[in-house]
Amino acid sequence: MTNIWTEALRGLQPRLGEETYDLWLRPLELVAVDTDLIRLRAPSQFMKEWFENHYRDAVLEEIHSRSDGKIAIEIEVVPSEPVAPTGAHAVVSSATASMSVASKLPPPPAGLSQRYRFDTFIKGASNELAASAARAVADEPGQRFNPLLLYGGVGLGKTHLLHAVGHELHDRHPQMRIVYLSAERFMNEFISAVRYNQFDQFRRRYREDIDVLLIDDIQFIAGRDRTLDELFHVFNALHEAGKQIMVTADRTPSEMQGMEERLTSRLNWGLVADVKAPDLETRVAILRQKAEQEHIGIPNDVAVYLAGLVRSNVRELEGALVRVSTFAALKGVPITEAFVREVIGDKAKDRPLAQLTVEAIQKAVAGHFSVRIADLKGQRRHRGIARPRMIAMYLSRELTGSSYPEIGLRFGGKDHSTVINACRRMTEIQEQDPELRGTIDSIRVQLTGIRPQ
Ligand code: ADP
Ligand code: MG
Repeated sequence: MTNIWTEALRGLQPRLGEETYDLWLRPLELVAVDTDLIRLRAPSQFMKEWFENHYRDAVLEEIHSRSDGKIAIEIEVVPSEPVAPTGAHAVVSSATASMSVASKLPPPPAGLSQRYRFDTFIKGASNELAASAARAVADEPGQRFNPLLLYGGVGLGKTHLLHAVGHELHDRHPQMRIVYLSAERFMNEFISAVRYNQFDQFRRRYREDIDVLLIDDIQFIAGRDRTLDELFHVFNALHEAGKQIMVTADRTPSEMQGMEERLTSRLNWGLVADVKAPDLETRVAILRQKAEQEHIGIPNDVAVYLAGLVRSNVRELEGALVRVSTFAALKGVPITEAFVREVIGDKAKDRPLAQLTVEAIQKAVAGHFSVRIADLKGQRRHRGIARPRMIAMYLSRELTGSSYPEIGLRFGGKDHSTVINACRRMTEIQEQDPELRGTIDSIRVQLTGIRPQ
């Protein structure tokens, strides 16, 4: 009998769509099912009324199609705690708070990477339009290109430019209220605001308390109609007030469901700029800059050779350089063309090292400590498992050059910050603990076949 509620919801889900379901039905908690009454609990009065006005009839229809008797629905309101305020929220409020203390400068916007600035961005034919448009936005926010949309494949520098605009504007106008966040986070905050009846705060935060809004990866909310509606309301409000909006996407507007028309009508006031894969010359310039930043000694002709091998995107190019330099340091050899070929490989047959995967590393670490791979991917915090897990994450980063989010994903969907912490701790502990260093060295030798000098 309890199942009648679950079944009704399951029947409704395809009709309502995932987002509506998540927003309005999932938060309702089933309290009890009697013969003629289903009792539910809603987290706010608003949620209760919304459900009653919009979805109750549809749910009852589903229920009555599954049972004979008449059933009613009763909802009590039990407020629960909202999701903790996010970084974006913190930015706005801390900026506002510190403005009253005239001597104290507001902190830089949350979430911006220090490395992603204009002066570390290499311009080339592939990204020229995007980089110039980003510059113009930083020079004259809210005036020339508003909104600005950058789109292009992954790893081509869109996020880098978005952060660069945020840094530049903050440096020049410390009081400016700049908010940077991913579209995914915008969606989660929106859902939370609706669920916990804090829609007014949400509105104020995004429609009023902002001077510059930077949203990364808007493709994430394609097809999420309510979130999109809300985002476009935000766009309208900000645009009308002359505030700057800049967004990125990994595909064109026409490839994002529900966005093209609304985006392009707004983009008639703004600009869409694409970012393409960089040409050889740009890739070489990026490599040389990265090598300099990381103090990696790589001769010019070898950089050209490496840039010729890795063409797809900049993130892979950077990963390749880090891998080559890690192995060169391990072996105690200089970075030569032959060595690059050995590590990266011209053809599939000679890329043994580059083929090291996170899975292979997990297997080796699990074997060494006699723990299960499932435990490495699991949540248990027992030291006998937590330690091997951190070692495996550390080696994955070092030997595969995968990104932190990607490693997190392969460890049972952990957050990238967990991986970052693990890598940092392993680096620290190794310095004081020769035994741990020895353990890590021997697993590395087993995986790579390379003995440290
Ligand atoms: P996207 O957001 O397009 O997926 P990112 O902005 O995250 O890509 O870029 C991936 C990596 O490549 C980052 O480390 C970034 O700094 C670097 N990168 C990309 N393009 C350039 C460039 N033109 N100059 C310097 N670094 C770049
Ligand atoms: Mg990005």
